Amino acid sequence: MKENLYFCPLGGSGEIGMNMNLYAYGTEENQKWIIVDMGVTFADDTVPGVDLIYPDAGFIIEKKDDLLGIVLTHAHEDHIGSISHIWPKLKCKIYATPFTAVLIQEKFKEKKIDITNYLKIVELNSKINLGPFEIDFVTLTHSILEPNGLSITTPEGVILHTGDWKVDPNPLIGNKVDEQKLRSIGEKGVIAMICDSTNVFSPGRAGSEKDVRESLLKIISNQKKRVLVTSFASNVARMESIFYIAKQTNRNISLVGRSMHRIYKAARQCGYLKDIVEPVDSRDAQSISRENIIFLCTGSQGEPMGALNRIANDIHPDVAIESGDTVIFSSKIIPGNEKKLYGLQNSIVKRNIEVITEENAFVHVSGHANREDLKDMYQWVKPKCVIPVHGEHRHIKEHISFAKEMQIPFNLKVENGNIIKISKDQKPKIVDQAPTGKIYLDGNIAVSIDSTSIKQRKNISINGILEITLIISNNGKVKKPVISYSGIPEDEINETFKFDLEDEITKTCKSFAVNNFKQEKNLIETIKQNCRKIVKEKTGKKPFTNVNIARV
Ligand SMILES: [Zn+2]
Ligand SMILES: [Zn+2]
Repeated sequence: MKENLYFCPLGGSGEIGMNMNLYAYGTEENQKWIIVDMGVTFADDTVPGVDLIYPDAGFIIEKKDDLLGIVLTHAHEDHIGSISHIWPKLKCKIYATPFTAVLIQEKFKEKKIDITNYLKIVELNSKINLGPFEIDFVTLTHSILEPNGLSITTPEGVILHTGDWKVDPNPLIGNKVDEQKLRSIGEKGVIAMICDSTNVFSPGRAGSEKDVRESLLKIISNQKKRVLVTSFASNVARMESIFYIAKQTNRNISLVGRSMHRIYKAARQCGYLKDIVEPVDSRDAQSISRENIIFLCTGSQGEPMGALNRIANDIHPDVAIESGDTVIFSSKIIPGNEKKLYGLQNSIVKRNIEVITEENAFVHVSGHANREDLKDMYQWVKPKCVIPVHGEHRHIKEHISFAKEMQIPFNLKVENGNIIKISKDQKPKIVDQAPTGKIYLDGNIAVSIDSTSIKQRKNISINGILEITLIISNNGKVKKPVISYSGIPEDEINETFKFDLEDEITKTCKSFAVNNFKQEKNLIETIKQNCRKIVKEKTGKKPFTNVNIARV
């Protein structure tokens, strides 16, 4: 039987976020699988009440007996966020470098799962063997500690799974991109490079953390009063820069926000952030004068519960800002967050507080490869084929054009669920389709998009809710119905619609034998329809309606 090599993205191809990729090797009867990354996407207002979305892993859950492990490239939520939700259905080993492992452990702790026996820590730039896969972790540069590309050697040939990366000549923490190592991987003959497409539309280079540090130092040195910096907590190099700048400008530094503390602690635990000043507790920072403090806060995307939003709205218990202070957004605007973020910035500017963002100063660099960075990688690795992932369809299509421009012999446009056969001397081919989908974490419960809970909540959020309770006694007497409602617009008309509903309900009850249980369902349905119609006529809203019958 012929053995084949397959690649299958279950998330992250055709969308930004929730990356999850599968590799398989073997004969039809005996295939072994690995998973690379298990991410989430953050839900928006179209699914009210849902925080997280992650790939439907049903396809690989069915094959869990042939699953050799989960390999994680780095600790961004779009690569690890769903692991504690999906893992209980897989119960396999997890391989991660130390910093990623610490953050994984926290996720499992939150779910009260002891992952110790399953979590295998991989040293930076070392190898693991999983059945037919020899996986070499290659430290790259990105916007988090320990970003790893995976050089996956199989009997068919070598695949380079880049993970998220850019070429940062001065990453500040961690090593530079190991060009020599990438070239030597290239010399082995990379039959396919599965590559990050996020910044494929951006010309030039992504830029360096060191340049941001220098620019921020200049900007902060010129500030006279309080300075607040907000950035992605997971960018530890940026965090270190703010510590460095605090020292250079003789200011104290205080961390504000849960994830800022969490990442600081995890980084220290792994031996990073050793030579920095000690942060002061934000409660103690109140006694420090305005010109002697920098706050490093969460909430760079205007998140309602982020530290910056609470500070700007004067509801943070420890930190306040006032006229003359400066807020620096050392971050990018994630598409979709513009409204929230501009709202926050407006509320700060209105108070005579200076706002500095990437729109008016050099305060941020992206963690993803721009076109010149991509060009470097292509030249070092010289892949036979490029399969772009980690992007929307438009990114992936552009990345394909770019690969053609770079004269890569083969390329393949893929989307979630495609099962791709990769061979050493042929163009890769989509040979099958795996079922895919999205799982919505609604509270603690995993549901699908057509779940009743989401549908009902959406309906209620738009139309309001009407609750009717009928009390029927044994002898068939109907008491005055109890009517309550929420989320229906109020004016003097509402009083009348309540009477109209009462009349309607009494009338409907009279036309039914209310003590005939067989008719109960019918009775409820008729009342529901008629009452919704009345409310619609009076208010323009057709509320989500419940009718309950209590028999006494
Ligand atoms: Zn990342
Ligand atoms: Zn990513």
